[in-house]
Amino acid sequence: MDEIYPINISKMTFKRTSLFLISNFLFLISFAQPDRWQQRVKYTMNVDVDTLTNRFKGKQKLEYSNNSSDKLDKVFYHLYWNAFQPNSSMDARSRELGKVQVNGRPDWDGRVKDRILNLKENEIGYQKIISLKMNGVPQPFKYHETILEVNLTTPILPKTKVVFDMEFEAQVPLQVRRSGRDNPGTGVRYSMSQWYPKLCEYDYEGWHPTPYVAREFYGVWGDYDVSINIDKTYKLGGTGVLINATEIGWGYDKPGTELKEITSAKRLWHFKAENVHDFVWAADPDYKHLVRKMPNGTVLNVIYNYKPNNPKNDSLWEKVGDAAVTVLPFMEAHFGKYPYPQYSFIHGGDGGMEYPMATLISGPSLGTVFHEWMHSWYQMMLGTNESMYAWMDEGFTSYAENLVTKFYYKKPSIEDYKEALKNQPDNENLKQLIESLPEDNADSYSGYFALVKSGLEEPMTTHADHYNTNFAYSIDAYSKGAVFLEQLGYIVGAQARDKILLEYYRLWRFKHPNANDFIRVAENVSGIKLDWYKEYWISTTKTINYSIDSLWEENGISKVRLKRIGNLPMPIDLQLTFKDGSTEMHYVPLNLMFGNKPNENASQKRTEHEEWRWTHPYYIVEFNHKLTDLKKAEIDPSKRMADTERKNNVLELNW
Ligand SMILES: [Zn+2]
Repeated sequence: MDEIYPINISKMTFKRTSLFLISNFLFLISFAQPDRWQQRVKYTMNVDVDTLTNRFKGKQKLEYSNNSSDKLDKVFYHLYWNAFQPNSSMDARSRELGKVQVNGRPDWDGRVKDRILNLKENEIGYQKIISLKMNGVPQPFKYHETILEVNLTTPILPKTKVVFDMEFEAQVPLQVRRSGRDNPGTGVRYSMSQWYPKLCEYDYEGWHPTPYVAREFYGVWGDYDVSINIDKTYKLGGTGVLINATEIGWGYDKPGTELKEITSAKRLWHFKAENVHDFVWAADPDYKHLVRKMPNGTVLNVIYNYKPNNPKNDSLWEKVGDAAVTVLPFMEAHFGKYPYPQYSFIHGGDGGMEYPMATLISGPSLGTVFHEWMHSWYQMMLGTNESMYAWMDEGFTSYAENLVTKFYYKKPSIEDYKEALKNQPDNENLKQLIESLPEDNADSYSGYFALVKSGLEEPMTTHADHYNTNFAYSIDAYSKGAVFLEQLGYIVGAQARDKILLEYYRLWRFKHPNANDFIRVAENVSGIKLDWYKEYWISTTKTINYSIDSLWEENGISKVRLKRIGNLPMPIDLQLTFKDGSTEMHYVPLNLMFGNKPNENASQKRTEHEEWRWTHPYYIVEFNHKLTDLKKAEIDPSKRMADTERKNNVLELNW
């Protein structure tokens, strides 16, 4: 538990950092524990829900610590639900994207379309502020649709804490996207995300009052104490630990207990969560609650809409809990420890959406379960500003989801088969199988290639809200972001890439890392300069294309000439296969790397060549075999380099 407090983390990691310095003496300069300041929130909220009108009144006490060295003249809050009104920014944005055709279809989100335009008065969402005080003094505020601007009567001084007291009321929108009531898809009554006025983040780049158009989130870490008073027939799941579990029962106190009988019309649910940057809950009278426990005590809740006489439905949701137990140790080994006391998989929302210590999922799909849970790392702990670095959020999560899925289904990797082939080099079946197997993250690569082909690609530095198409945003964030990590393995070696992810978690959790921060960790761990990789892959839409250009023998030395056709330079793995079946790797680092990838395959001979300068379109590799002994030459047999034209990477010879 106490590990989730930043102060303990910094103490713990300091010692380990010193050890790391000794073993990485070459890179002494940049290994300090980052001391980037973070603002801090502490919310205490009480809400009273009317399930007939779908409205609620709320009281919010917000203790806000300004840990920056800046004087704050104003603050901003998100009022997300004001997006669910006809002609809102979110509505207009969706309908404009609906006019754009991508692959023969309107580019709008199929869940949103023009549904907001057609919401009736009792179906719209809103959040209204009744009163707002800072340290007891009323504050003037101004609505900008989904953003509330508060021009403070007195500034918040650096390194001081203030207390905001707010009264607000809200109407739960008919569910259009993520939040809302009575979703026809899940039948869940209340999916309560983005439900309270939430302070915007202030960081080293200033305020982030991003108007809501249905996309990304960014928040301040802190503690939440949330009490929800609601009709007694409703059952709840949410972020945090249920404090009054013994009063509630329903499996929260002990396995298998019923919801306690009470005489009052409403029941109070009291949750607490520490060191999170958001709070979600969901409620339905038909919910069923399953509990799983990890050996270390972490509780996994599965809460779903129970359908009578449908054992198949029950077993699918039970599988969610069982699968979660199976994969958590794998996730922790690869991406770092899960530090919170519980996690809840809650039926609700649409598709899947991540929140701290919980997710809303529209069904028991294990792919979605693994994806959303991995967001506990890449968003809840490593909370990048998603609007600016959606690829570090969705891309890293998609990469991790692929790994977790492969682990869960015990799918042997292509590497396992290659290992087996070493012992039976003549096994043609095995060879064929390897040829037919998809590489890791194959879907991400094909998504990226489709985007390149479409001509709609935009640089990944584009603000998530400002892409011209949903298509380009999605593929950039999810696929090109996942390829970033798989391809990083090609550049620095898979082992180093895995270490980078753990080191990134250790150094940057709870600190809002940006792209530079990740690259610096990657450089320090690998000993390879990677600024060029970030620049080309993230900031441009330049593409990779290498080919085998020509072959010849000169004075008894065999030579193969490689050509860089694309504008994005990369290091090259060139594998040569000879008539006797033997292979060797010829490694050509890129001059911008100032370092070499270690040999990834100890059982294969590897020759390291001089660096290839990025300015030069051609490079000649020499090798000590008769040219006529060569059977095949192949650039990047691992297919991790996202070469947009793979055909010209391979040359097969029939002398
Ligand atoms: Zn995601």
